[in-house]
Amino acid sequence: MSRINIPRQLAREVLLEAGHRCAIPTCRSTPVEIAHIKPYAEVKEHKFDNLIALCPNCHSRHHKGEIDRKSLRQYKANLSVLNSRYGDFERRILLQFATQPGTNVIKLPGGNLIFLLYLIEDGYLEHIGHSEGHNDDEFPNFDLYYLTENGQEFITKWLNAEQLQ
Ligand SMILES: [Zn+2]
Repeated sequence: MSRINIPRQLAREVLLEAGHRCAIPTCRSTPVEIAHIKPYAEVKEHKFDNLIALCPNCHSRHHKGEIDRKSLRQYKANLSVLNSRYGDFERRILLQFATQPGTNVIKLPGGNLIFLLYLIEDGYLEHIGHSEGHNDDEFPNFDLYYLTENGQEFITKWLNAEQLQ
């Protein structure tokens, strides 16, 4: 393939946007490649809005048409919503729920409430309990958080490449 390489700074921005993981929320694999949403052969340029980080498997599924452009565009838009609204810790919590369907409670070491404030403010997560652990194999103390119905809906939309906001 003879084409001009993607400028390093632009590549870095695309990788950062996806947290250096595949942008497909059900995948999130590494390593990643930079994919053109609309094929390079058509656009003949590298623009941030048309670039997305994908693992080699999802990249080839995109080329085979198994993951369409519209979904990729929405996944990219959703990454931007997630990145601008939530911190890394919150995104990990969302991912944790996303990869474990049917689970709606998570147990975390105590003292992390501040890192989850936006998810709580948005009504996606609820602090439902606190406990002092007394077993050696238990966290010293821990909090329980519940994924609300709105939270479940948010994750479902994210996984289905629907608009988040
Ligand atoms: Zn992937």
